[in-house]
Amino acid sequence: MPTVADIIHIMDQMAPRRLAEEWDNIGLHYGDPDWTASTVFVSLDPTIKAIEAAASAGAGMLVTHHPLIFKPVKHIHTKSPVGAAIDLAARKRIAVFCAHTNLDAAAGGINDVLAEKIGLNVTGPLSSAPGVRRYNLVVFAPPDDAERILEAISGTSAGIIGNYRGCSFQSRGIGRFIPGRGSNPYVGSPDQPAQVDEIRIEIPLYLNDIDDVVKQIKANHSYETVAYDIYPLYTEKSGTGIGRIGEFSKERSLLQVAEDIKEALSLKIVKIAGPPEIPVKTAAVCSGGGSSMVGDFLASSTDVYVSGDLNHHVALDIAAHNRGLIDIGHFASEQVVVPVLASRIQEEANKKSIDVKVIPWRDEPDPFVHM
Ligand SMILES: [Zn+2]
Repeated sequence: MPTVADIIHIMDQMAPRRLAEEWDNIGLHYGDPDWTASTVFVSLDPTIKAIEAAASAGAGMLVTHHPLIFKPVKHIHTKSPVGAAIDLAARKRIAVFCAHTNLDAAAGGINDVLAEKIGLNVTGPLSSAPGVRRYNLVVFAPPDDAERILEAISGTSAGIIGNYRGCSFQSRGIGRFIPGRGSNPYVGSPDQPAQVDEIRIEIPLYLNDIDDVVKQIKANHSYETVAYDIYPLYTEKSGTGIGRIGEFSKERSLLQVAEDIKEALSLKIVKIAGPPEIPVKTAAVCSGGGSSMVGDFLASSTDVYVSGDLNHHVALDIAAHNRGLIDIGHFASEQVVVPVLASRIQEEANKKSIDVKVIPWRDEPDPFVHM
């Protein structure tokens, strides 16, 4: 039977967790990886209505873009929207998994889907985002523990270098220590200097892997106190980032581009700022709320900024630079990914012979009603 873990594995390949912003909260927000998920429902938001729709579809798992739990939850009050959603997911026994900024940044993620829908040929990321911070973990262990520790870690996503996984390095050395009074050392006696053969194991990993890896090491290490170091590494620039820049196949006026986008995305409304007749050949897109990336747009040489949730001052600023802005709304800029994501999960599951049915929520409502 297909499990929640099977779908998590597919999602982790499509939108690696290391691409998420450090402030984000992603992954399995409710449920158990071992639960059966013969049907998976996909929506933008983990709202009560989305969970109800997932339940009606007979789903055991809901995959969303926006997190179910974003700020720390101290109480699960069922009269609050988050509390009610958690409560409903619990009663319906539907696991909720979220891929947020990692899905924004991933190759083939929301920004690439949005760019493709509006006919933009992507040439790179909008943000000059630094690469994803990498760390190195070093643990000192008795030689007999080394294989067991590496075996335990192989179940985590540590040890990835480029296209290679399961990477680690071992070297042999001498460990010295004096066990304290009241200690129960694996080798030696309290208050007596000890000298033992040890293996130094090094593993590269990302921030999101650290807790899991340390837990596995401690569970498989013979010492009562495990000596380990974790230190950050030099971060190379990443080819990914939030937002995309690219080129349209032909030049049009800002007004025409806005009309074409409106049609391509079947929108009732778009807002534009900037001179309507300026020629537009290149664009930057940023799915969701793009206010924080306006500086990156202005620093780029692109003609128009296509995003959502852009405010009055952003519009004034962009127009003052004789550049264009097209606000397509937060919902519309991200909801485009839902059917695409559902069919990609389905495709990957089929490839792996995982017998699951993936259903996108086609009637998901925009919280704004345009009158
Ligand atoms: Zn969003």
